Amino acid sequence: MQHFYRSKLLKNRLKIILLALVATTTIALTVIARPVAHLTLTAWSDSDDRQPLPLGTVDDASHLNQTQVTIKQVKSQPGVAEVLLQSVLRDALRQDKKVAIAGSRHTMGGHTLYAKGISLAMLNFNRMQFNPATKILTVQSGAKWSDIIPYLNERGYSVAVMQSNNDFSVGGTMSANAHGWQHNSPPFASTVESFRLMLASGKVVECSRQENSELFSLVLGGYGLFGIILDVDLRVVPNETYIAERFVIKSENYIDTYRQRIDGAANIGMAYGRLSVAPESFLQEAILTTYRQIPQGSQAIVSLEKQSDSGLPRTVFRGSIGSDYGKNLRWQLEKIVGGEAGNRVLRNQILNRPSTLFENRHQAETDILHEYFIPPQSLEAFLEKCRVIIPQSKGDLLNVTVRNVHQDNDSFLRYADGEVFGLVMLFHQQRTQEGEAKMEVMTQKLIEAALAVGGRYYLPYRLHATPEQFRQAYPQSAKFFALKRKYDPNGIFQNYFYQKYGS
Ligand SMILES: Cc1cc2nc3c(=O)[nH]c(=O)nc-3n(C[C@H](O)[C@H](O)[C@H](O)COP(=O)(O)OP(=O)(O)OC[C@H]3O[C@@H](n4cnc5c(N)ncnc54)[C@H](O)[C@@H]3O)c2cc1C
Repeated sequence: MQHFYRSKLLKNRLKIILLALVATTTIALTVIARPVAHLTLTAWSDSDDRQPLPLGTVDDASHLNQTQVTIKQVKSQPGVAEVLLQSVLRDALRQDKKVAIAGSRHTMGGHTLYAKGISLAMLNFNRMQFNPATKILTVQSGAKWSDIIPYLNERGYSVAVMQSNNDFSVGGTMSANAHGWQHNSPPFASTVESFRLMLASGKVVECSRQENSELFSLVLGGYGLFGIILDVDLRVVPNETYIAERFVIKSENYIDTYRQRIDGAANIGMAYGRLSVAPESFLQEAILTTYRQIPQGSQAIVSLEKQSDSGLPRTVFRGSIGSDYGKNLRWQLEKIVGGEAGNRVLRNQILNRPSTLFENRHQAETDILHEYFIPPQSLEAFLEKCRVIIPQSKGDLLNVTVRNVHQDNDSFLRYADGEVFGLVMLFHQQRTQEGEAKMEVMTQKLIEAALAVGGRYYLPYRLHATPEQFRQAYPQSAKFFALKRKYDPNGIFQNYFYQKYGS
């Protein structure tokens, strides 16, 4: 009898365990199944179906500006390059041709393009030399950050101010006067000591804050309209080791948290924010990431090749295109496991990341950047407008990062008259006339919103701003273009940006 009861008890226990197991597995599968299915589908459809450009044409990072040009490759031997460039400029004048200068072509509005013009391909013009006594890097303007960072890394140094990726050339960075995650700093121009410039006449001049200072300020942020930048003296900084920390906050508290966590701490080396694009918290939540300096230890010089990136972050990112579910999933994951929180990381490792990791590889689509520079006191007011404009315009917003930029005292066509926060927005669109028209309308509304709160928009992207909006954002532009005509009276240096706003 006793035996009978014991076996019944055992059977009941087994039943309960089995039921609990089935229930847990069902719940786990329901929770996991949808994200796994979503990400598997994304990875499966994330093929590269881009087609090569027709011979004799080039494009920029917008993939919307295919243009027929004659390409002139510029080589790195200084004497040879200068003779070639002078002969190109002479021929251009004689044949009434226009010259557009190109680095990595990561502008998006034809800033490197002129139809049937001469396209100067600068990327092979990339020699460099470092002087540790002065901490000055002398570098040819075609060098990309992906060339420079490993070179400086071997010597224990790093770039002072640059974009958040390594794909760009020094000449292109100077001409946009870029900025990145180096908070509490003016834009890139502040790190340029001097450069040599070839004018439209072929004459080479030295430019610095003391010598030809007007040209110095015009070329920095001057979008290739004043001459060909040859070599540049750049101030660099020691490489550093950081520990990353993250704070998940309400967007409305962004500035207060920034002041407390960053301005209030002396040892933050870099910082950036990210805003939610998930429908359930659209532009309402933010993640602020800081990189706190820690002693270098034995990690000071590490080979940068050792970095590896799994495909998962790309899949999670690409899975947010056109999908509310994908956007919510990504934001949840980023809040829990995103970023490098708690990790030790070298400044050069952070800076040496290519933008290609997340790029769009479909022929029919493209991803387009915008950036709005907003004074700190107006950040929430601008976001309030964006929360209405973007959904109403059906803009497919994939990403927003936030950067701090301090007053720029160096460039003529400057975007930072005082401290601003840059909101970098990445939108997804179709490569069709309809896709473009839709984006143009939305961009003009966003620019209007930025202007209304005392902000500006950034110039290297699509040329959707109306000429009136451009003038409002850059009141110094009339004088800028008048000086362009003074230094380049025959209008040799041209591009779509100048054609739309300057000529
Ligand atoms: C994915 C992506 C991420 C970006 N991230 C950032 C960022 O974090 N911060 C930021 O500030 N910007 C950012 N940008 C914008 C970028 O900084 C600018 O577009 C920059 O100009 C790109 O450099 P480039 O070498 O591709 O320049 P290009 O597009 O090749 O050229 C830009 C301008 O510079 C001129 N130019 C190039 N070389 C010379 C030269 N030797 N002499 C004279 N003129 C020259 C060209 O004529 C053109 O007008 C980003 C752009 C993309 C596509």
